[in-house]
Amino acid sequence: MEVLTRDNLLKKGHIHPITQTIVEIVEIFRGLGFVVADGPEIEKEFYNFNALNVPADHPARDMQDTFWLKPLSERRVLRTQTSAVQVRFMEVHKPPLRIIAPGKIFRNEATDATHEAQFHQIEGLLVDKNVSVAHLKGTLEHFLRKLYGESVEIRLRPSYFPFVEPGFEIDMSCTGCIKNEKAGGCCPMCKGTTWIEIMGAGMVHPNVLSAVGLDPKEWKGFAFGLGLDRLVMLKYGVEDIRHLYSGDLRFIDQF
Ligand SMILES: [Zn+2]
Repeated sequence: MEVLTRDNLLKKGHIHPITQTIVEIVEIFRGLGFVVADGPEIEKEFYNFNALNVPADHPARDMQDTFWLKPLSERRVLRTQTSAVQVRFMEVHKPPLRIIAPGKIFRNEATDATHEAQFHQIEGLLVDKNVSVAHLKGTLEHFLRKLYGESVEIRLRPSYFPFVEPGFEIDMSCTGCIKNEKAGGCCPMCKGTTWIEIMGAGMVHPNVLSAVGLDPKEWKGFAFGLGLDRLVMLKYGVEDIRHLYSGDLRFIDQF
C-alpha cells in the first residue's frame, strides 16, 4: 500500500503548453539580442489603432472585431493585437531596439475549432539603421528552424497590414507532410498545399515611426506578429483551439 505523504496527496502541477511555448520562443529571440516588453490588456484606442496608422475612419478597423469598454467616451478597448506594445515601448526607449512581446489579445467573434475570443500573440519589433527585408527574412527563418527543425523553409507573400509597408504573410513549409506521406494520406495540416500560413510581418510603416517622434529617413525597422495558439496547435497536433482554454485535466495532463 502506498504511504500517504504530503507529496503524493498533492498532485503536482505543470506548465501549460502555451506558457511552455512562450518560454521557448523568448529564449530563441533572447539569443538574437531581443528583450521582452509588456503592455496592458485594457488598451487606449490610441495605442491599439491610431498610432499604428489606423485612424478612426480607416477601413482596416473593420478587419478586427473589437471589444469596446464602457463608458464608450473613454475610448478604451481590450487590445486586439500585441502591436500596441510597439508604440508604448518606442515612446520611452530610443533605438536601436529589439523587443519581443508575448501576451493575450481579444476579438469579439464567435468561437469554433480555430477561433477563440481570447488568444495569444507574440509581437516582434526591431528598429535600427539600414534594416532591410533580408534581415526580416533571416531572423524569421532562424526562429522557425530553431523551433521546428533545420529543414524548415519559409516564403514571403505580399499582404496588407496598416502598420507595415511593404507587408507580408509568412508561410512555413508544412511539418506534417512527411509524417502523413508515410501514413499514406493527404496532409490535414496544410490540406495538401505543403505550406502553412504562420504569421504577418513587414517593414515598419514610416507613419508609425513618425507617431513616436522618430525620423523615418534615419530609422528603419521590421515587425511581425504571430498567433501563438496556432503555433502550439501545430507543434502538438491539437485540433481544437478551445481545448487550450478548457481547463480540462484530461487534455492538459498530456503536456
Ligand atoms: Zn502538409
